[in-house]
Amino acid sequence: MSNHKKKVSSNRNRLPIILSLVVVILAVIAVILLFCLPDKSTKQSGKESVKTEVSSKKKEKDSSLDQEDKKAGSKSTEKAEPEEPKEPEELKEPEEPKEPIEAKGNGHIVCIDPGHQRSGESAKEPNGPNSKTMKARVTGGTRGTTTGVYEYELTLTISQALKTELEKRGYTVYMTRDTHDVKISNMERAQYATQVNADIYFRIHANGAGSSSANGAMMLTPSASNPYVANLASKSKTLSQDVLAAYCQATGMKNLGVQANDTMTGLNWATMPMTLIELGFMTNPRDDKNMEDAAYQVKMVQGMANGIDAYFQGQ
Ligand SMILES: [Zn+2]
Repeated sequence: MSNHKKKVSSNRNRLPIILSLVVVILAVIAVILLFCLPDKSTKQSGKESVKTEVSSKKKEKDSSLDQEDKKAGSKSTEKAEPEEPKEPEELKEPEEPKEPIEAKGNGHIVCIDPGHQRSGESAKEPNGPNSKTMKARVTGGTRGTTTGVYEYELTLTISQALKTELEKRGYTVYMTRDTHDVKISNMERAQYATQVNADIYFRIHANGAGSSSANGAMMLTPSASNPYVANLASKSKTLSQDVLAAYCQATGMKNLGVQANDTMTGLNWATMPMTLIELGFMTNPRDDKNMEDAAYQVKMVQGMANGIDAYFQGQ
């Protein structure tokens, strides 16, 4: 009897220990579940890790909007669930399928047009929407008098480097061409910028002059009385000023100023703020050699990217 009593009492003593063990095990399982689920979602979105803070904030915002939608939609079906800590992770999934053209990264889309192509095209096209003035589809461009490099080669080299730099900074970048052997007119290039839903259209050219002493960089922008894009003149001018200032600061290139131009087909057909940079004079020995120097090209690209950053920060 006393033996039996002892057994019972010892069982009673163990009961709290067993109960607390169960509680501990349950707690451990709960912790494992909590940590595994966010892990999974991190892996799913791992491929998008390049995105900047801005976009992830936007994503959170979007996702919380989705969440609101979803909650509103499913109000009647799921009610008695007071705590659902995993919900935000689950709701990120519907965001995965993206439209082919959509701003990612910092949310800005830049369309770069590397000026010219291997062969100019003399066939004509309208100088602007509904214009009766006809101009050559695309001209041949100039050539380095010291280096022998063609303008279409320099513009593509610089454009590709600028694309890489802008992508590093979170921009989505499209280029009207990435090879020399194309037949794309100035009008078609501007239309491409519209197709890709660009926020700015950035044309890259280099200058040439009869006198080898002419040197420096300038930017061309539509005037406020442009018959086609007057509504874009103000923003285009700001963009031009921001880029030219940053470009000349980074390179030490002589600043020839922002110049109004209403005769360029490639500007007149644009539908977003636009600019055209004349990187420097290929007919000037110093500009020409500088623009073919790898270290100098880094400065050129940094300068333009800084200017584009400044423009968007000011918007
Ligand atoms: Zn040109």
